[in-house]
Amino acid sequence: MGDNLPKYRIVDINKTSKKNTKASILIIYTGGTIGMEHDDSGALIALNFNEIVKRAPSLSALGLKLTVISFPNPFDSSNVTISEWQDLGSIIYENHHHYDGFVVLHGTDTMSFTASAMSYMLKGINKPVIFTGAQLPISAIRSDAIPNLVTALEIASEKKDENPAVPEVCIYFDYQLMRGNRAYKKRSSQFAAFGCENYPLLAKAGISINYNHSAIINFNPDEVMDFKNKFCPDVIILKIFPSIKESYVRHLLSIKDLKGVILETYGSGNAPTQPWFLNCLKEAIKNGIVIYNVSQLIAGIVIQGRYETSKYLEGIGIVSGNDITREAAITKLMFLLGTEVNIDDVRQKLKAPLCGELTVL
Ligand code: ASP
Repeated sequence: MGDNLPKYRIVDINKTSKKNTKASILIIYTGGTIGMEHDDSGALIALNFNEIVKRAPSLSALGLKLTVISFPNPFDSSNVTISEWQDLGSIIYENHHHYDGFVVLHGTDTMSFTASAMSYMLKGINKPVIFTGAQLPISAIRSDAIPNLVTALEIASEKKDENPAVPEVCIYFDYQLMRGNRAYKKRSSQFAAFGCENYPLLAKAGISINYNHSAIINFNPDEVMDFKNKFCPDVIILKIFPSIKESYVRHLLSIKDLKGVILETYGSGNAPTQPWFLNCLKEAIKNGIVIYNVSQLIAGIVIQGRYETSKYLEGIGIVSGNDITREAAITKLMFLLGTEVNIDDVRQKLKAPLCGELTVL
């Protein structure tokens, strides 16, 4: 364990004898429904991890060396901020030589934002970082928590030619393994909470787990992790809709300190061509604001220039996000604005994948 993480509670739940140990996995418990319980008023509040282990005795039968590190105050993921991303990233970074893989227990609401942020922060990790959670608390009779957790642990410990089979940041949920920066939450009241439209599933779990190896990032023995943990919060998402008001757009784009905007456009990246709208965008770009064009559609692909209504955007310097998700886009913009010194480098890096979050068209 890293020495500078004293505030985290660490529990060793390893019950396997050394010779039977298949792999050693660090479980990081951040909070979320998986570990919640109803309080006296009926609201869901987070439990500590000891309670979770009590309810999942099967964990010690997996043949894995399991260590759990718990955030001191487990949180509902609607409260996640850059600070929790930095803490989580540091825990993984400081421990990446000591474990074969990582399983992160996280609330579903912002899981795809955090998984995207981790994919950029931990670029080149070359080990599995599998996010999972649950739609029902582990204490509920019909909970999905144990199947999700157990399969996530199996995936995190899976080997291919003696190397990690899935050496990247992923979300495992309801029998599907997805690239973390390609997935998004799509349902709040069904077990199949996540979708991934613009990239194939990395694995499907049934009686056995079938891996789609050609879609998974290859293990690279020479890779050195490029850990960076700065994010810039001076960003907004501007979602357009018919009859959007000029005064509102103007006001938003002139916010002091604003550095980046996700422009959520229609279809394949189209937006109004009214002169006031284009002028507002042009002026913002002139003032050094980076604007990233991302489709409002869950399976959208931005092709600037396909229609007249997107040709202008290309012309004024708006960067196309191609098939990136909103979650991967906003975290990428925050990451690049936080880590790059030069705005032109931010623009260039937005166009290309950092770690599989978009397809080059
Ligand atoms: N509000 C919860 C969270 O995101 C929902 C969940 O875990 O599913 O933490």
